[in-house]
Amino acid sequence: MVDYKVTQLDSDFDFDSIRYWDVVIIGAGPGGLAASLTTAHRGLTTLVIEAKETPGGQPEFLYADKKIVDIPGFPDGITGHELSQRTYRQAVNAVVQFRFNEELVTVEDTDETENDDQLKRVVTSRGNYLCRKVIIAFGLLHFPRKLPVLDHVDSDRIHYKVPKISDYEGQRVVIVGGGDSALDAAVMALQRRADVNLLVRKDVIAGKADTLRRINELGGRVHMSTEIAQAGLSGDQISLQLTDDENILADHVIVQIGFLSAKDTFEKLNLRLNSDGSIAIDPYFETSRRGIFAVGDVHGDIKLITVAWAEGIQAAIHAFKEITSPYWLNEKRLLDLKISLIGEKLADAATRKKS
Ligand SMILES: Cc1cc2nc3c(=O)[nH]c(=O)nc-3n(C[C@H](O)[C@H](O)[C@H](O)COP(=O)(O)OP(=O)(O)OC[C@H]3O[C@@H](n4cnc5c(N)ncnc54)[C@H](O)[C@@H]3O)c2cc1C
Repeated sequence: MVDYKVTQLDSDFDFDSIRYWDVVIIGAGPGGLAASLTTAHRGLTTLVIEAKETPGGQPEFLYADKKIVDIPGFPDGITGHELSQRTYRQAVNAVVQFRFNEELVTVEDTDETENDDQLKRVVTSRGNYLCRKVIIAFGLLHFPRKLPVLDHVDSDRIHYKVPKISDYEGQRVVIVGGGDSALDAAVMALQRRADVNLLVRKDVIAGKADTLRRINELGGRVHMSTEIAQAGLSGDQISLQLTDDENILADHVIVQIGFLSAKDTFEKLNLRLNSDGSIAIDPYFETSRRGIFAVGDVHGDIKLITVAWAEGIQAAIHAFKEITSPYWLNEKRLLDLKISLIGEKLADAATRKKS
């Protein structure tokens, strides 16, 4: 583990051998990628957890083909996709490790310490990781809620966005969800003569009664109080065992069970928030919980790629300094000490005034 000196990470570094990561970063958007290559360039073992299957964040998912014209150094612009790919490649070259399709659930404090740092446990949808510092860079956007029972099924026929339903004739489509978007997807598929099973976890439908009536008219089957108990692959199809004891083979599974709001995750993390609901940070990008930093859209007023980059880099350097410099030289701790001394002086002055 790296302490008090900068060393290079080798590409053959054995990450399985480490007891804890120096830094775990949540989100592979501009902020997370910039932070990750900065910590890894400084020899810190760095893991990035990303909910989606590919890196890039908003520039990749929302405007991959748009020419971004406000990035310094690119006078002719650069597409969201190209920029994301380049930044990702730079992080991979710096030996940053990535886990895709994995979502942050929460960050726990542990009783374990390392050089004055209380280790954190980052809990995700697939596992947990012990680390010294956490950098939150997961943006503010909502993203589709995943169905854990489908996590291990490796198929591009499981959709969390409603796919282009141009030719569904004769296809077996299972739709999961009881809200309007699940019901609308069911109607769309039925109108293209698909064979539709709609699985609703609760015993009531949250979506519009009219849409449900339309599903019934078009011959869709609605399974109330039903979930997927087990899932696997059977050739190109997805085999599903339902909790109502039925087994179904599906050509496509469309999951529409709502969106996770970044703000739900903020609450789970138990961080102090600003009045607009964004994460409050100090001048070092550290949140109200020691060892947890936040960068990019999760807190800032100015939501730009270059701002997320700059914040990611600064938080990474502060994390690096905390990990590698002895506590009596650490700039941040000295400032904390100064502030607490000022606090003590003010309290002392107030007491004297009273007496
Ligand atoms: C339509 C549009 C156009 C824009 N155009 C420009 C432009 O031209 N120039 C510019 O500078 N800026 C532009 N922006 C703004 C810019 O894209 C954002 O400010 C920037 O992407 C913020 O980066 P970020 O890393 O903070 O967050 P994001 O880009 O949102 O990345 C966050 C990442 O975290 C992941 N994530 C979320 N939750 C979790 C979780 N629980 N666990 C694990 N991973 C998670 C997400 O999947 C995502 O990959 C635009 C924004 C939009 C919406």
